[in-house]
Amino acid sequence: MINTNINVALIGNPNTGKTSVFNQLTGLNQQVGNYPGITVEKKIGFCKLPYNIKANILDLPGTYSLNASSIDENVVIELMLNKNDKLYPDVALVVTDVENLKRNLLLFTQIKDLEIPTILVINMADRMEHKGITLNIPYLEEHLKTKIALISSRKGFGITELKELIVTYKSISSEPCLNASVIDTEYFNSLRKAFPNQLLYKLWLVITQDVNFLNLERKEIQGSFTKSHSDLKRLQQKETIKRYQFINDVLKEGLKVDATLAKDFRSKLDRVLTHKIWGYVIFFAILFVIFQSIFDWSKIPMDFIDSTFASLGTLANDSLPSGVLTNLISQGIIPGIGGILIFIPQIAFLFLFISILEESGYMSRVVFLMDKIMRKFGLSGKSVVPLISGTACAIPAIMATRNIENWKERLITILVTPFTTCSARLPVYAIIIALVIPDTRVFGIFNLQGLTLMLLYLLGFGMAIFSAHILNKILKIKGKTFFVVEMPNYKLPMFKNVAINVIEKTKAFVFGAGKIILAISIVLWFMASYGPGEEFNNADEIIRTTTDNTTLTQQQLQNKVASYKLENSYIGIMGKTIEPAISPLGYDWKIGIAVLTSFAAREVFVGTLATIYSVGDSDNEDTIKNKMAAEINPVTGKKIFNFASGISLLLFYAFALQCASTLAITRKETNSWKWPLGQLIFMSGFAYVLALIAYQILK
Ligand code: GDP
Repeated sequence: MINTNINVALIGNPNTGKTSVFNQLTGLNQQVGNYPGITVEKKIGFCKLPYNIKANILDLPGTYSLNASSIDENVVIELMLNKNDKLYPDVALVVTDVENLKRNLLLFTQIKDLEIPTILVINMADRMEHKGITLNIPYLEEHLKTKIALISSRKGFGITELKELIVTYKSISSEPCLNASVIDTEYFNSLRKAFPNQLLYKLWLVITQDVNFLNLERKEIQGSFTKSHSDLKRLQQKETIKRYQFINDVLKEGLKVDATLAKDFRSKLDRVLTHKIWGYVIFFAILFVIFQSIFDWSKIPMDFIDSTFASLGTLANDSLPSGVLTNLISQGIIPGIGGILIFIPQIAFLFLFISILEESGYMSRVVFLMDKIMRKFGLSGKSVVPLISGTACAIPAIMATRNIENWKERLITILVTPFTTCSARLPVYAIIIALVIPDTRVFGIFNLQGLTLMLLYLLGFGMAIFSAHILNKILKIKGKTFFVVEMPNYKLPMFKNVAINVIEKTKAFVFGAGKIILAISIVLWFMASYGPGEEFNNADEIIRTTTDNTTLTQQQLQNKVASYKLENSYIGIMGKTIEPAISPLGYDWKIGIAVLTSFAAREVFVGTLATIYSVGDSDNEDTIKNKMAAEINPVTGKKIFNFASGISLLLFYAFALQCASTLAITRKETNSWKWPLGQLIFMSGFAYVLALIAYQILK
């Protein structure tokens, strides 16, 4: 019995259903990673074929042609030219959309000319009847010199036949579609003489594209066959024209469309959805509904995760023998894991909505609509999704930048997204606003506290757009700002595609950023649970001997001990150490600790203050608030939380990058520490300066 592994590469224009074909072939047997050194996503799946043959299916990034203009497209060329790559395909599947066959075939003819066995997959066959399309498959197979699989990845038909074709790939003709020398006979003849053993079309790609080519020294070829940039461009255009002539000739016989059935519904809907006014109204209405749902629907599962982990912690504490290990488990590891898993509902819901919008074809209309505005600030139309998703959480938002082709625009989007007000800032804002902004009405209608909150959200968006503008000026990254949005047909989303996308994104978060969140939680636990010296170790005795035990309940006494311990723990000592730096902002060492701990995650702020002020029940916000309100600065004799320090804190939390998970995800998405560190220093530095100015003016 033979048992072989073959490599299959899936290639195609964006929106031809490549991912759907990939999902049909591989199901959940997928691995998502990155190509070495770059951030382009690399998806490999496994598929069992007839006759015991196993296939590694590589889903290459969507590309329009082999004339590379983005890193995504470079990946395709580099692989197709490099026989030594361990992923070099035995057979290539070029996926096309039956409704856009002419345009999609350009890439097919290029791949075919590399003389790799190539199967033409014509997808979306379920649309043919509706659109009045008929194909003459034998004619097409003969003239395109290939085998054709006519499939519908939506309805699942043709997949079995496709698998059969893959198995017999060796019988596919490797004859090219276009004789490369027609591009420029004289030039190509001399190339052929100089490199008689090389494929002419490959040589041409090596000359025109910025890619590595292992069997030949690129310089050697380019050295003796240089042409000016404009000459090369002209010849590339000529190549494209020749290819389209060929395709037109073939399709004249091979494809028939009944014109009376084409267009109609789609163009009407497009007119409304990309309308100058209605387009925006509809878009913002959809966003509104999405964010309401994300908040509403996530609440129950988030509360559930929260309480489950709280009781797990208690359970561990009660049932394990007391000691350091138990403390580590119950106070470090369990809350740490809980702190990761609690984001899952928001991430899953957000990506559920995004995938539905993408799958249905609506997202392309939004991108088209917003592109003109966003481009003024160095962003892309596609930055809209991350910037808005950032109001839930920066983690999924930064992950959602992946479909921005231009690296510079993508990087800027990643860097500015954390300015949008995420849900973790909300508890911090809520308590400080309640403390320092009076609960009155402006013009008798608007609640001043509510207005302040809205202002903080606007400030976040404003700052994101403003910094994008600055970064656009500063960053010297070249990258073509070409903008191609396909306007794919409207379709009902495919459940399988949506589900796989949600699962993949959630998994990427839990295992990517999750590791780092867990590590930081453990470090924080350690620093808050241990301290050097007598004060920390004998806290219990010190408090019992120095306070009047009779008036305090057992709970109050314990809280006092805990807060004394915290003051003398490592993190408490750090709080005191940084006090000179933060007192010009109006904060004391206690706030300092909360600011420090909330660099792991902002929502830790309220919890930390609750512990520090040793309030009876940390769930009772009123008590924390009253305690905070009563806190007096021993030096000035004024309230710690006054208008000036409150505004200063609000501004600090609005701008500082206090979120280990954001750093982790930026590190992951940019593949370097340079960007997250820059982000941390700039955002937090800016926050500091602004908070300082605000406090000094207002105090
Ligand atoms: P990719 O960009 O090439 O990876 O394409 P996707 O797999 O994301 O598919 C693009 C759109 O086409 C999605 O809305 C899919 O639901 C839809 N689609 C994919 N395959 C088919 C098909 O066979 N028939 C129809 N009608 N739609 C399909």
